[in-house]
Amino acid sequence: MTLAIIAAMHEELSAVLDLMPDERRERVAGREFWVGHLGGQAVVAVLSGIGKVAAATTATLAIQRFGAQALLFTGVAGGLGKGVRVGDLVVATELLQHDMDASPIFPRHELPLYGLSRLRTDAAMSRRLLQAARSVAADAARVLGSDARAAFGIATPAVHDGLIISGDRFVSTSAESAALRRELPDALAVEMEGAAVAQVCHDHGLPLAVLRTISDRADDQAHVDFSAFVQHVARSYTVALVERYLAISA
Ligand code: SAH
Repeated sequence: MTLAIIAAMHEELSAVLDLMPDERRERVAGREFWVGHLGGQAVVAVLSGIGKVAAATTATLAIQRFGAQALLFTGVAGGLGKGVRVGDLVVATELLQHDMDASPIFPRHELPLYGLSRLRTDAAMSRRLLQAARSVAADAARVLGSDARAAFGIATPAVHDGLIISGDRFVSTSAESAALRRELPDALAVEMEGAAVAQVCHDHGLPLAVLRTISDRADDQAHVDFSAFVQHVARSYTVALVERYLAISA
């Protein structure tokens, strides 16, 4: 069984590659796929690219060319839900494209011809990911180090599970995040790829789990918070999460 590990950021992918003893690079469609093992598990690791089309293409190639039978997505996201703070971890139970709108022909947010707007992640993989996330959060002092925690004001990160929304927009104004909160009150976090990968997995009948670390609050400060967070925090989280996820038996 090959697991695809799809990472959103360079910092995260390089952290994953550091854990693979035998990775071999294959280039397809301008992407570098890294085939090998991680914790005894056959893995293909790859950068998703940014945005829904890039991520859907990457996921499709991981499945069709590299035989991925399960997909694990890790990345950062903007926090939307009340109490979803920078440094928190969010495991998706379902994903929705917030910029999908074929109304009035189809209801707002519905994927045309699917009859669905929300796609569910795999329950077993997500439970395992939630367990890994809780273990990382409980151990944040060691995983992140005191400098990073102080710089980002991360005391004890919380772990959330629920709806993550995706769209081809970096949400970086308070007005826009307020509008998304009004429209989709149960959305915990906003990012740019997850729901697209979920659609690809849905089409192939393959299981998916998605974890996002909150890098910003999708507000006027988002661009500053995002860059600093990716540089200083995302990498440590990803290493710990992937290692712990694989250590928990399926
Ligand atoms: N200028 C950035 C662009 C990254 S886009 C760069 O230096 O690369 C932001 C990425 O992080 C996307 O992959 C998205 O999934 C996630 N993300 C983090 N915060 C987000 C937010 N507030 N809105 C949308 N996506 C966000």
